[in-house]
Parts: sequence; structure tokens; C-alpha cells
Amino acid sequence: MTFWRQLRWQILAAEMLVVLVGVVALFATAGVLAERNVPPELLPDVRATVSQALVFAAGAAALAGLAAGLLLTRAILRPLQQLAQSSRRIADGRYDQRLAVPRSDELADVARSFNQMAAALQQVEQQRVTLIGNVAHELRTPLAGIEGYLEGLVDGVFSSDVETLGAMQHEVRRLRRLVDDLQQLSRVEAGQIVLNIDAIDLPSLVQRVVTQLQPQAIAQCLRIEVESDPADLYVLADADRTAQILVNLVGNAIQYTPEGGCITLRVSSDAALAQVAVEDTGVGIPPEALPYLFERFYRVDPSRARSSGGSGIGLTIARHLAWAMGGELSAASAGRGKGSTFTLTLPLAPSHTHPH
Ligand code: ADP
Repeated sequence: MTFWRQLRWQILAAEMLVVLVGVVALFATAGVLAERNVPPELLPDVRATVSQALVFAAGAAALAGLAAGLLLTRAILRPLQQLAQSSRRIADGRYDQRLAVPRSDELADVARSFNQMAAALQQVEQQRVTLIGNVAHELRTPLAGIEGYLEGLVDGVFSSDVETLGAMQHEVRRLRRLVDDLQQLSRVEAGQIVLNIDAIDLPSLVQRVVTQLQPQAIAQCLRIEVESDPADLYVLADADRTAQILVNLVGNAIQYTPEGGCITLRVSSDAALAQVAVEDTGVGIPPEALPYLFERFYRVDPSRARSSGGSGIGLTIARHLAWAMGGELSAASAGRGKGSTFTLTLPLAPSHTHPH
């Protein structure tokens, strides 16, 4: 590093320049004024006195400049050096680095911004670590199942009958579903999903999804109803993705509603948005769980959801899909045993009637 590029020397040079200009200007003006106002016989004495005074003044100013410059460079350079050092540590993966906040406003601002960035990076890193842990944990359960069956087959504890093979197939399917879900999750979170946005009739799409899931609902003695007001409502959305979100919501409602319950899909609209509310009379969601519902792998009741094959990422994917289409997905529940309502919001098509 060449020394004139260092802030320290630049500040000192600036201070010395001020001293130099001051001395030269004073010397010149004193000379001119003395010549005008002092009688010629006194001129040499006055000159000598002024010169002496100037030398002292210049020395004092230079010293003061030097001291001020040094203090200033210390005040500026130390925080900057710490900033550089902490940045390097963060780059090396040590995310717990924080800067002490200096007194001067501008530097304090920089330090605070840096600390915020460090905290955000630390949180992202934490989430990444958690994600890897979760994925490993999710993969372990079906793998342990398959391994158990295989060991049983090898040891002759199980015979390779339809039942054993069917159970193995069930575990493999679970694994496959999990891997598919994970892949889809990474795609939607990276914004890599290609959407085919078009004006679609929301009530008929809702009806299609209900028809598709009706057999599953009947098998569990559940009633599904659709209410739509108005009867025709066009939204700007990707039909397949919207259906996917609704299948997920209705599927969950079926899964989390005990026999004899009812699931109602209500389609409605306001000035700019259309809504589908999927309401069930099922197990409900405790208020403390509501904020986490859309987080990856979150399940209110892990043992129950896992035994039914749920991975806890269905809602995460669904919400990202809703966001990608300019919509929103939210959940509400009055509490345990009091049913739940999931509401999907989508932008209305510009003209609320059929475009053709
Ligand atoms: P899963 O595959 O486990 O169903 P989701 O992401 O779809 O994963 O749902 C996350 C969790 O949200 C579920 O495990 C369940 O605890 C809760 N949940 C979702 N839908 C409902 C519902 N209709 N009623 C009660 N709880 C629900």
C-alpha cells in the first residue's frame, strides 16, 4: 500500500496544507501591510518581529494540526479496521461477529448496518443448518422402515409375500413423495417455477378439485360443500398451481377432520381480490402454532402427521405458489377442536367476466 493512498496520511497532509496556506497568507499580508503602514526606519525590526511570531505560530499550528489529525485518524481508522477484520471473519464463516458502535453518528450508522447484516447472515446460516438436519431426519424414518423389512427378509423373519412387499412399497412411495416435495420446495423458493397465468373461472376450478377429492372425503364420512358468490369469478392465475394449492388445503382438511365433519369451500370477492376459504370442523390449530404453520417441516402434532405420511412442507409450497401468483395464503383457527380455515387469495382478472 503506497502511503499517500492511506487515509491517515491524507488527513495529515490536509491539515498541514491548511497550516502552510495560513502561514504563507499571513506572511504575505503582514509584509504588504507593514510596508504601507510602518515608517521605513522601523521596517526591519517589524519584519523580524513578525517573522519570529510567524515561526512560532506556524510551529504551534503544525503541532495542533498533527495532534488533531492523529486523533481524527484514530477515531476513523480504528472502526474501519475493525469493520475490515470482522468482514473477513464473517467471510470465513464466523457469523457471531459484531462491531462495537462508535460515538460518531456516521460511523455508528455503518456499524449498526454491519451488525444487522451479520445477524441476518447468522439467521440464514442457522436456517440452513436446521434444514439439513430436518431433511436428514425426514429421510431416516422411511429408510429405517425399508431397512427393517429388508433385514427381516434376509433373516427369514418375513416372507416375501404381498403384505411385506406392499409395506415396503408404501415406505418407498413415502420417500419418493418426500424427495419430490423437497425438489418442488427448492424450486418455488428459488422462484424457478414457470407459471402459466391466465384468466380462470375460480368457482368451476374449486368444483373440479372437490369432485376429485370427493371419494376420499366419502371414505372418511365427511361432507364437502361449495358456496360461491358470485357464481362466476375470473382470477388471474395458473390453473394447475391453483388446483395444486386447493388439493393440498382440502386434502389437509380431510386428514385433520374426524368422521362426520364438514368441509366448506367459500368463494367470494372484493374490489381487487378473489378468495377461497377452505373451512373445516376438524381438530383445529392452537393459537401458538398458527405463526409457524407455513414453515418448512412444521407440524402441530408430529407423531400423528408423520404416521399419515405428511412431510410438513405442503403448506410451505402452497404459500410460495400463492405468492408467485400475486396472491396470499393464510390460516385461522379458533383453537384446538374448533376447526380451521385456510384462505387463498388471488388477483381478479381485469374484467370480472369471461375474457372471450
Ligand atoms: P402435512 O404434510 O404434515 O399435512 P402441511 O404443510 O400440509 O404438512 O401442514 C402442516 C401442519 O399444519 C400439519 O402437520 C397440521 O398439523 C397442520 N394443519 C394443516 N392443515 C390443517 C387443518 N385443516 N386442520 C388442522 N391442522 C392442520
